[in-house]
Amino acid sequence: MSEQTIALVTGANKGIGYEIAAGLGAFGWRVGVGARDRERRETAVAKLRAAGVDAFGVPLDVTDDASVAGAARLIEESAGRLDVLVNNAGITGDGAQAPTSVDLATVRAAVETNVLGVIRVTNALLPLLRRSASPRIVNMSSGVGSLTRQTTPGGETGPISAAYTPSKTFLNAVTVQYAKELRDTGILINAACPGYCATDLNGFRGVRTPEQGAAIAIRLSTLPDDGPTGGFFDDEGVVPW
Ligand code: NAP
Repeated sequence: MSEQTIALVTGANKGIGYEIAAGLGAFGWRVGVGARDRERRETAVAKLRAAGVDAFGVPLDVTDDASVAGAARLIEESAGRLDVLVNNAGITGDGAQAPTSVDLATVRAAVETNVLGVIRVTNALLPLLRRSASPRIVNMSSGVGSLTRQTTPGGETGPISAAYTPSKTFLNAVTVQYAKELRDTGILINAACPGYCATDLNGFRGVRTPEQGAAIAIRLSTLPDDGPTGGFFDDEGVVPW
């Protein structure tokens, strides 16, 4: 089996996901660029390759069972296993998100991508991760999903949001359940908060660069075998649930 570490980053065609792919690629890893749009995917792969990254395109819509199954097949055929999965793809959901007026379709879309998409992708790739000597899974969450921060007076909570914010709280809860089930498998799974980064997601209003946002996911992708699992981290350390 190849010694080269194999990683897959979902939503890697732009923003924080692209920078995670670039950062993992800089270690000499082979990096799958999971992206749903062919042109955006190929452009990102070409840019990463031009920067010296051993990148390959993985057609992937995390909301689509067939697409996710196809991605798992492609990685099995081309690499035979997966060492690191970064579940980065995410959406805020369109429109107003105040709980008293939110459209259920907005909530459903956020949960479908940010939570069910992570479960769908993770479960499809687990057989390949189980073949790795040191498998790692990173779920890109957000500090806004922290119930502790939301209920602490003066805490940093972001805008009122019945779709995006609870979807990240849900994702955190799912991360803990995976860690419990996988505790004795060697698979380490953690949630990451990238901080408020300037990307398409927020109309580029974030104050950090996507590269800065990628750093915590890169760190959690490279944890030693005795590293944490079932945790929630940002650049400063532990984020309260
Ligand atoms: P972004 O620039 O909008 O990138 C999001 C990525 O996810 C894009 O590549 C997008 O692909 C992809 N994506 C969305 N739905 C998908 C689907 N169904 N299947 C496959 N890919 C899909 O946003 P970002 O800021 O880099 O966000 C990356 C992650 O960080 C998200 O999970 C987000 O919630 C989280 N986060 C971001 C911030 C921040 O301040 N930016 C803060 C906290 C957490 P397309 O190009 O095809 O749309």
